[in-house]
Amino acid sequence: MPSFVVHGLIPLLLILALRLAPPKVALATLPFTWLPDLDFWLGIHRATTSNVFILLPTLYLWWRWREAEPQRAQYAGIATLYLASHLIMDMFAGGIVPFWPLWDYTVFWHFLIRINTQTGERDVTNDPGTHEGAPQVVEWFTWLSPVEAAMLAVTAVAVVGTLGWRWYRQGGQLPGFLASEDEG
Ligand SMILES: [Zn+2]
Repeated sequence: MPSFVVHGLIPLLLILALRLAPPKVALATLPFTWLPDLDFWLGIHRATTSNVFILLPTLYLWWRWREAEPQRAQYAGIATLYLASHLIMDMFAGGIVPFWPLWDYTVFWHFLIRINTQTGERDVTNDPGTHEGAPQVVEWFTWLSPVEAAMLAVTAVAVVGTLGWRWYRQGGQLPGFLASEDEG
């Protein structure tokens, strides 16, 4: 299952790299990326808030504002992208019930490649499918795996290093990290 690190970093970095929105918008709407996991506490995990209907409110706002208020529309559009990214990632990691509560079936795509360290042999698993009901919740959920701790560490070094360097170059002034790209 993708952890909060993967759900946060992957869409955030894509939105910034593809210049879909300025950093200010990408960061302000970032919490939407974790919203589908509310159903861990409320209702049925991977169903109650992990379905396509959760996209509708922000999608509607984007559509409504896109001509008259493009700046507000951008916030709604990016929020929709965050929500959609969560659903897609969860589909590849256990599955979601995309049309809950209308259709109580999990949709999943189990895809992985393993390499035998002794023989070099490759083992590809490609298993898309559906099953009735929500996915099983494991007893011990890996909230942070070693790989994700590594991603966080690299991100922290990059952010702190870059901001520190800019702060030093600007003679002790706080870098306009969020505002500088705004007009670009
Ligand atoms: Zn999730």
